Amino acid sequence: MYYLDHNATSPIRPEVRAAMLAAWDVGGNPSSVHAAGRASRAVVEKARVQVARLAHVPADNVIFTGGGTESLWLALNGAVHGALEVEARITRLFISAIEHDAVRANAHALAERAAGLRVETIPVRHDGVVDVDALRNMLRQGKGRALVAVMAANNETGVIQPIVEISAVAREFDALLLMDAVQAAGKLEMERSSPHVDYIALSAHKLGGPQGVGALALREGAPFAAQFLGGGQEMRRRSGTQNVPGIAGFGAAAELAVDNARLTALRDKFETGLKEIASDSVIFGRTAPRLANTSCFALPGITAETALMALDLDGVMVSSGSACSSGKVARSHVLDAMGVDEALSRCAMRVSLGWNSDEADIDACLAALKTLAARARARVAA
Ligand code: PLP
Repeated sequence: MYYLDHNATSPIRPEVRAAMLAAWDVGGNPSSVHAAGRASRAVVEKARVQVARLAHVPADNVIFTGGGTESLWLALNGAVHGALEVEARITRLFISAIEHDAVRANAHALAERAAGLRVETIPVRHDGVVDVDALRNMLRQGKGRALVAVMAANNETGVIQPIVEISAVAREFDALLLMDAVQAAGKLEMERSSPHVDYIALSAHKLGGPQGVGALALREGAPFAAQFLGGGQEMRRRSGTQNVPGIAGFGAAAELAVDNARLTALRDKFETGLKEIASDSVIFGRTAPRLANTSCFALPGITAETALMALDLDGVMVSSGSACSSGKVARSHVLDAMGVDEALSRCAMRVSLGWNSDEADIDACLAALKTLAARARARVAA
């Protein structure tokens, strides 16, 4: 089997599995005062430091959550409902056109429920980079405090966004900034961007940690409204007994870097091979800065739906340009925003590499694509 879908989920790393098994053996509730409770609490606090180091934020700013989606919801909801002073309240949500559905759907849901709250979409350029000048113009127009939501790197194309530049624009207009770092964390240095961001969303399963665990890094003083009340865990910001083994696994994963030079070499080998298979193949976002591990491409005339099934039969696992939870291949809003035409967009696929990817994965994927392309050519010729 050849797994090239790390942006969907990166398989558990051996060190993560070991950390989780050890945490299960600790037992105890992290809120209990006895020895077992204190030991369990120590597991959580160690992981908090590890995740904080990954995100370049103080450990006290990290809230463990049930994943990236929950973190994004907490940030959006906190910005809208958390401010105490009327003048600090958010009335405008600016979200980039390429945000994950966890941002898009939750932002729109909030706007439907909160009177006077508007969602506006920040356009991206053809290369998939958010248009910072357009954002500045949008912020300049209209009244009311804004929250800007831009991801650090896109899950479909891997295109890296200019967060430092965006944070300067946000500051100019006293806007809050939410950075979805779910795909970027562990692959991209966050040292420069993190200090300027109010909310950072993270997810463990994209970096070889367990599924269903995430974190929200909350800048001190950023508006926040707890959604789960009860035991007062996570400094009263997210009640409920913590998922201790999951959090331990997240911490372990946060400590492990991926080798970007190795992944770049593999990705480049893939893209060179792709061009040899079909000179008309298209690689989306190629001219922009991209994560080392991601390649979003199309073989014109071969739909992603057909390709995914054919590759799967050959044991090669990749995604369509837009991974869809229902298992159906939907049109990608990211490629739409980049101005890719509909027919080509339907052919978009994504190869995403990670800690255990190797040459054999690339060779198997290229071989499967070559067979597919030859079959398509034969069909056209017949
Ligand atoms: N944001 C981005 C950019 C993602 O790629 C994903 C997952 O695909 C999410 C958010 C949601 O994260 P989770 O699956 O942990 O809820």
